[in-house]
Amino acid sequence: MKNVTEILTGKRNGAHVPLIAGPCSAESYEQLRSTVLELREIPNLIAVRAGVWKPRTRPGSFEGIGEHALQWIQKIKEETGLKFAVEVANSWQTEAALNAGIDILWIGARTTVNPFYVQEIAEVLRGVDVPVMVKNPIHADLGLWIGGVERLRKSGIRRIVAVHRGFFTSGTSVFRNDPKWEIPVEFRTHMPDVPIVCDPSHISGKRDYIFEISQAALDLEMDGLMIESHYRPDQALSDAEQQVTPAELKQIMAKLVRREELPENTEALEHLYALRHQIDALDHQILNLLEKRKHLVESIGELKKDHNITILQFQRWFEIVKDRSQLARLLGLEEDVILEIFQLIHRSSIKIQQQILQGKTTDVQ
Ligand code: PEP
Ligand code: MN
Repeated sequence: MKNVTEILTGKRNGAHVPLIAGPCSAESYEQLRSTVLELREIPNLIAVRAGVWKPRTRPGSFEGIGEHALQWIQKIKEETGLKFAVEVANSWQTEAALNAGIDILWIGARTTVNPFYVQEIAEVLRGVDVPVMVKNPIHADLGLWIGGVERLRKSGIRRIVAVHRGFFTSGTSVFRNDPKWEIPVEFRTHMPDVPIVCDPSHISGKRDYIFEISQAALDLEMDGLMIESHYRPDQALSDAEQQVTPAELKQIMAKLVRREELPENTEALEHLYALRHQIDALDHQILNLLEKRKHLVESIGELKKDHNITILQFQRWFEIVKDRSQLARLLGLEEDVILEIFQLIHRSSIKIQQQILQGKTTDVQ
């Protein structure tokens, strides 16, 4: 696990999964203080979250207390010595949070979508050494997420953590936001130095799924969790259904299994390496076969050019789809995955032949 604790708080990672927890919104001094005092009992807790300005989809819902809540945070910080994280969505909120001595800032999903806002925040943060968490944008646009991190880095922000909170779904998922796990995995390959914290609260939308999503995140080597907790969740003014009590959160954290990256047992470790070795060899074979296939595609391209034949022939493509799907089924492979692979291979073949016939490529979906 990457050192989320160190990035956000300056302390070393302990043995526990780092947890940032707190209410969706700071609603009153009493609500925030009572929640925090209970959360303090969870050994995993590294920082408290509390929304001060709430981005709500439609007007008329509770939009946060605003600047006044920063004073409650200051008081509770003094009493407990805990670090606090707050969402900022524009320049004046960022200034207000910094002036109040907030320890950690986060950029929400509705802000990461807008490069103007991210840039505006990045400008205020130029020369300020504060850790910032960047949530994924609402829609599954990896570029915007990476872009958000890059904008902050260009302003000199070094301590950055990404937050995976799932993606907008048109309503077909049981979750409030579709996790689309492949996106944070892809984020990781582009930005291996940036730790990723999972926010199962906004993914699930319901408290019953929080454990399951948290475990899934840990199994994908995510580096920490950000979970909404309220001392009286059912009375919460925002996101009531997804908030858990600090006592429930403590149980969830205790139940989570943290798997190791590698087995401790030497025999198991050797077996793992041997299996991986075989996988490497097979992958190399696949690549060699693709290279051979490419040569055949080129020869066909030359033939098509010499005999004035079209590049894309639907009848041939339909035959390929039918044949490869059938074989995939017979072999017990996932048909739709195999089909996707062949679609990519076919697209690349068309590109190669376009080069041969026309000296250029037009991307074909
Ligand atoms: C939040 O964390 O309270 C929040 C508004 O989340 P998101 O930006 O992920 O919707
Ligand atoms: Mn919320």
